[in-house]
Amino acid sequence: MPELPEVETTRAGLAPHLLGRRVLAATLRRSDLRWPIAAEISQLLPGQRILAVRRRAKYLLLDTAAGSALLHLGMSGSLRVLPADTPLRSHDHVDLLLDAASGTGASGHLLRFNDPRRFGCLLWQPSGQDHRLLAALGPEPLPADGEPTSGPDFSGDYLFMLSRGRSAAVKTFLMDQRVVVGVGNIYAAESLFMAGIAPDRPAGKVSRAGYVKLAASVTSILTHAIQRGGTTLRDFISPDGAPGYFEQELFVYGRGGEPCRLCGALLRQSQIGQRASVWCSRCQR
Ligand SMILES: [Zn+2]
Repeated sequence: MPELPEVETTRAGLAPHLLGRRVLAATLRRSDLRWPIAAEISQLLPGQRILAVRRRAKYLLLDTAAGSALLHLGMSGSLRVLPADTPLRSHDHVDLLLDAASGTGASGHLLRFNDPRRFGCLLWQPSGQDHRLLAALGPEPLPADGEPTSGPDFSGDYLFMLSRGRSAAVKTFLMDQRVVVGVGNIYAAESLFMAGIAPDRPAGKVSRAGYVKLAASVTSILTHAIQRGGTTLRDFISPDGAPGYFEQELFVYGRGGEPCRLCGALLRQSQIGQRASVWCSRCQR
């Protein structure tokens, strides 16, 4: 499943091809993905110019004056910018035909949405509103690129304050999208290892200093993953779901029973919040 770094890598890769382009036509080869495709995609989007390509959590937003196309890649979705005459492959569900960069009105390329398992979505967010899927989301773990965000910033103090009195495991707390967005299982496991915090500790029992380390670890690991992902835009999924480029550098995720890379102790594995969790009981307390 694409995680936040892969979605951000996708956004950064698409933006130069989409910014300033006018959508000439929308071709929908089915009426639904995970949910029905919003009627506005075919009714309002054609004729509109793409003014920004943004990411919020794992959603991508194509902003226009009429509103924003809101996309999610789900489990298996991908977006590619292709010459307009590129033959169809299986599961190519949606094309947005774009004008040529010269502004002549001639078609140049298209943005093609492929999604074999159809857990992705293509929805619509009216201008000036937050779609209901975005309304309850916590802060971004990475500094947004010039995007003013409402609500609190992600920091150790923020996590500390929010976690007081909570008995849920700190790993479950960290993966809650209302707390902070985009920290999936891999990145939660690795961040907790880097911060030296056992994933099964009650969130309310982790110190302020612990959360300061944890917030820094989350930001550092996600930033690193995005940098590594920048050169492998589409080949990021390995069979077990770990991003291929990152796999060699994982300290705990997917390594249950293997020796800790820091101290040599055998890594523990258990379910926490119904998610496979691996940690070092010597390095993480
Ligand atoms: Zn260890």
